[in-house]
Amino acid sequence: MRIAAIVPAAGRGERLGHPVPKALLQVGGLSLVEHAVAGLMRAGIETVVVAAPADVVDEVRRLVPRATVVTGGAQRSDSVRLSLDAIPADVDAILVHDAARPFGSEDVVRRVVDALENGAAAVIPVVPLADTVKRVDGNGRVVETIDRSTLRAVQTPQGFRRDVLVAAHRTTDVAVTDDAALVEAMGVDVQTVEGDAHAFKVTTAWDFAVAEALWERGNQ
Ligand code: C5P
Repeated sequence: MRIAAIVPAAGRGERLGHPVPKALLQVGGLSLVEHAVAGLMRAGIETVVVAAPADVVDEVRRLVPRATVVTGGAQRSDSVRLSLDAIPADVDAILVHDAARPFGSEDVVRRVVDALENGAAAVIPVVPLADTVKRVDGNGRVVETIDRSTLRAVQTPQGFRRDVLVAAHRTTDVAVTDDAALVEAMGVDVQTVEGDAHAFKVTTAWDFAVAEALWERGNQ
């Protein structure tokens, strides 16, 4: 099975309040997008398409010369859709991996690839939740407590049979935060595999501090 990867890296990282796109911010002297692409390549995924913000496409090309870099879109799903056009014709399955997850991808990639090779149409890595989770209303009042044992936090890389991911991305009018949500909406079974705490998404200054500390300990 020939497997390629898409790395959506075109977010502005607004939650960080930083003028530089998040994927270009560094941990241990390397940008997040370099870490993410290197992790995929170490796990044996050699064909990687990166979606970059329009104004830094050339810079990202310099940072990840072994990847194909395309201009991303307004939403994450637009960036994935635009990247799909650059995937070679003979690729059977595609991993979608956030640039914002610099670490932990090697073991997770192997588990996702194994599931695809064993016939899964869609695979997502998940981790249990440590905190109790409650639904609240617009006034911050608790509506219900959700049984934590049935919940999982979802990571990337998420893996899909190519035809499944392409079909999912024909639907352009739903706002989703991951690709599996589009696949679920089509009624396709999504399999879970074990994620990895190190594959956490770097979103806030706190996350950057954690990533930097892990890097310094050689524990990424
Ligand atoms: O914003 P968030 O951290 O959820 O974004 C997840 C990933 O999607 C990031 O790697 C980000 O760069 C990417 N993204 C994108 N295009 C957008 C928005 C986000 O490629 N328009």
